[in-house]
Amino acid sequence: MLDSCSPESRPLLSLENALDSIKAAIQPVSGTEKLTLKNALGRVLAESVYSPINIPRDRNAAMDGYAFSSCGRVGGQAFMLALVGISWAGRPFQGQLQAGQCVRIFTGAVVPEQADSVIMQEQVQVHEQSVYFPADTRVLQNIREIGEDVNEGYCLLAQPKKLTAVDLGLLASAGVDQVTVKRQVKIAHFSTGDELTALGRPLEPGKIYDSNRIMLGGLLAGPGYSVTDLGVIPDNKQLLEDSFIEASKHHDVIITTGGASVGEADYVKEILQNCGKVNFWKMAIKPGKPLAFGKIGQCHFFGLPGNPVAVVVTYQQIVAPALRQLSGAPLAKPLRLTATCITALKKAPGRQEYQRGILSQDECGEFFVATAGRQGSNILSSMSQSDCYIVLPRECAGVPAGDKVIVEPFSLLI
Ligand code: AMP
Ligand code: MG
Repeated sequence: MLDSCSPESRPLLSLENALDSIKAAIQPVSGTEKLTLKNALGRVLAESVYSPINIPRDRNAAMDGYAFSSCGRVGGQAFMLALVGISWAGRPFQGQLQAGQCVRIFTGAVVPEQADSVIMQEQVQVHEQSVYFPADTRVLQNIREIGEDVNEGYCLLAQPKKLTAVDLGLLASAGVDQVTVKRQVKIAHFSTGDELTALGRPLEPGKIYDSNRIMLGGLLAGPGYSVTDLGVIPDNKQLLEDSFIEASKHHDVIITTGGASVGEADYVKEILQNCGKVNFWKMAIKPGKPLAFGKIGQCHFFGLPGNPVAVVVTYQQIVAPALRQLSGAPLAKPLRLTATCITALKKAPGRQEYQRGILSQDECGEFFVATAGRQGSNILSSMSQSDCYIVLPRECAGVPAGDKVIVEPFSLLI
């Protein structure tokens, strides 16, 4: 287990080192369950899936046209074939194609055994039961071969994989209707603080609304996680301790916000030192300096800062990769781009900063980023307007307008 010495005298911990420590401490959940495809989107495949059939199973037409045999083709001349039937998608031509004959065929319809070519309907002339093929007719075209997508017995999807809509389509194309996936990660989260007021209540003097809990609930929403919102726990040692111990019995992870720094009412540290093995890190990132990570019994614990922007940054940069690892999904790094910063950015050296920015792209494909506004760790309004982080390295001492910076977009749409 990681040690829990006082971080006061220690240098700030880099994000990379924190992630390495977390990575070493987390094993993916071992339980699995069988799900129908309808319920499997976003879940992590626990057993590789092999195709029970060739895809496609039958040779079929890649377009609407006429199926014929290249044997009937004479040199580079135009030729005529007799139309003897139709092969519909789902209703194959039942007869035997003889020399000098062709069939009308539609996309996806089975190509008669004796045919090896399909010509596009626009390229032929049809008069009653005669089809006239032009001199430049190309043979051996427009047929989808058996198994050209996937061969029977081949691996359709290898575990571990987070199932996408396309993956489900691929499984369905092979007729696979069930998959074995990792069980959901059970997560409990709550807010701590005497000042927090639940939504729907009037705000008394000195109080604030609890924004972290609804936000964290949203960040955690996803098919791989089963999330329990345990509400607000006031700054009361006994209540906090009871809540931690109770939640640790039924969950894989507890996430709290607030109370993890060194204020008078920040009890989380004291309590966890009694009932668990938890490290208190001072991270070299901004926002998000204080972070607690460790275990209560078998349950992982993340104590995030109280300030809402710091909650989002530490969740996305630290907790999200950890949860992904716990869920058994392959690790993935956030997409990073280089952009020209069109506003000057203030920064003091010492911590890696995740400033909130607004990304744009000009018609040549060049990226530009502007600050989203005030950067305090309590300022949710600018974060709500932003669509990317501007990642400024530890040693950076500010950015003049026009410099290149690294950005991490929140989504693929800007
Ligand atoms: P703390 O770490 O408990 O000292 O909290 C740091 C700051 O974050 C304080 O200004 C708190 O009022 C604020 N804060 C803590 N928890 C929440 C919450 N759930 N929603 C909004 N702000 C919070
Ligand atoms: Mg507090």
